[in-house]
Amino acid sequence: MPALTSDDFRALACAMAAAIAANAQRLTDLDSAIGDGDHGANMKRGFDAVEGELDQIAAKPLPDALKAAGMKLVMTVGGASGPLAGTFFMTLGKELPENFDRAGFVAAYEKAVDAVAARGKSHAGQKTMLDVLYPMLDVLKQGGDPEAVAARAEEAAEATIPMLATRGRASFLGERSIGHMDPGAASVALLARAVARTLTAQGGA
Ligand code: ADP
Ligand code: MG
Repeated sequence: MPALTSDDFRALACAMAAAIAANAQRLTDLDSAIGDGDHGANMKRGFDAVEGELDQIAAKPLPDALKAAGMKLVMTVGGASGPLAGTFFMTLGKELPENFDRAGFVAAYEKAVDAVAARGKSHAGQKTMLDVLYPMLDVLKQGGDPEAVAARAEEAAEATIPMLATRGRASFLGERSIGHMDPGAASVALLARAVARTLTAQGGA
């Protein structure tokens, strides 16, 4: 795993922001079906804010850049997903050594996902973003490359459609939450695909 440079971080952040912006309407539509219709706008506001401060954020060493991006997301995304997405990136930054190998990255990713679960008082199987984040962890642990991680993320997001929501706003709908993709799961899959596309284009990972 080659070191991630500041330019790599920039490219990844821009790709994530672009993916969210291009799909904001779809995320909002998904959240309109089983939530309050703000997920696309929430995520777009947050990732646009990170992109808007990318000069300052990307100038920091990678762990600090991740922490700063996470804090920005907490401050700007709002909703339930803001603190959760922010916790993910802040924990990744806290746990990632400046010079990390693949095992170090996977360990930090696992801590970040566990931190999201702790923050959300949630676990896999409740039709939330965790139902994509944990399957991605499995692929990472098995040695999968970013493409494999993104493919699994997309599959896992699809797999939230028949699930019953027992956490988050969608859980208020009970059985009526069945038959729709979880919006947070959809956005994590979009982000995973954006990361894979960027790293593959760079020939890295
Ligand atoms: P809100 O539900 O406050 O309107 P968003 O619409 O931005 O916030 O985000 C909703 C998404 O957040 C859900 O689709 C789900 O994936 C995720 N989510 C909500 N609550 C939790 C939780 N407790 N644990 C994990 N993920 C959650
Ligand atoms: Mg919402």
